[in-house]
Amino acid sequence: MPEQQGEGMKGRGLKRLLIVLLAVTLTFSSLSCSPKKERMFKRSEFLLDTIVTITVVAGSEKEAGDAMDKAFEEIRRLGGLLDFFSPESEISAINRNAGITPVAVSPETLDLLERASEVSAGSNGAFDITVGAVVSLYDFHRKVRPPDSLIRERLPLVNFRDLILDRSRGTAFLRRKGMTVDAGGIAKGYAADRAVEVLKSAGISAALVAVAGDIRAYGSKPGGKPWLVGIRDPRGSGLDDIIATIPLRDMAVSTSGDYERFFIEDGKRIHHLIDPKTGHPAGGVMSVTVVGPLAVYTDSLATAVFISGIEKGLKTAEAFGYDALMIDASGGIHMTDALKGRIAMLPRAKENGRR
Ligand code: ADP
Ligand code: MG
Repeated sequence: MPEQQGEGMKGRGLKRLLIVLLAVTLTFSSLSCSPKKERMFKRSEFLLDTIVTITVVAGSEKEAGDAMDKAFEEIRRLGGLLDFFSPESEISAINRNAGITPVAVSPETLDLLERASEVSAGSNGAFDITVGAVVSLYDFHRKVRPPDSLIRERLPLVNFRDLILDRSRGTAFLRRKGMTVDAGGIAKGYAADRAVEVLKSAGISAALVAVAGDIRAYGSKPGGKPWLVGIRDPRGSGLDDIIATIPLRDMAVSTSGDYERFFIEDGKRIHHLIDPKTGHPAGGVMSVTVVGPLAVYTDSLATAVFISGIEKGLKTAEAFGYDALMIDASGGIHMTDALKGRIAMLPRAKENGRR
């Protein structure tokens, strides 16, 4: 197939919208005949630099609309706290004060950073919340890869153990100047979890929240069927090119792939999932889908598992009590034992011989 090139923010947004629409479209198979006359209502907004789609099951448009308003507002609020690029955000305050002083942050930011540290430690640094010092050297829009010398210079600034969180004081502190926290690999999942909490508090009995590829669902569709989410073929020709579907009830799912943000240089795919040990994009894997209870973990673990490679990656997911499906560089599919049988591989995926 022709090589795709990396896209700008709009292209990415559109692509994600299509992925989300696909996931959501798959949920529309049983709209009719629910005993309570409950229906599905769906809305998308551009938040966290991506497309967020919320689908709720409710008895009326007003009930659905009011709940969705609150959930979108919560995601917007989190975006304000966590945005790497906004000088107003708490993440920016932490980064500005690296090597200077601990910064008081909201319980949500602290909560997210605690989970991030947990996944960083539990993946032996494959996920590293301080990888920003190196990630920021790549420009996927302009297709610029940093010189090795610059990567080597920055690598010592990557170490999650130097992010000091103090729960009693409510502060976060990066030990050394030049270090940065980049919540890009965990914030979307965290936001999906928060949105679900808001929808539950608003009395919604079933919903699916999709923050780009980070999805959390609870309850079931009208008629009692589970939500269905598709896994894309990482080298497929289109967005409807899915290799498998996963039914979700009270579950989260995230996919990280080397096709999300990338460019090709000298025949090599330079993508946005960076190995914190080398500062280079991780090889050997095309995509990882993680399934489990919370989106904050499926999101960050998808990156951790991708960086870890097939064998270690599956073990890392299992150590957290999560499941993973990985597609290796030759298109081979690998998954945790518990996932086998719970996932429907589409006939095409089996037929085309590379799996
Ligand atoms: P997206 O859905 O935006 O593609 P992912 O959840 O797949 O994001 O995470 C990728 C993002 O996470 C990168 O854009 C970068 O900000 C950050 N990142 C890249 N490599 C790592 C890593 N090894 N550990 C933690 N975060 C990372
Ligand atoms: Mg992720």
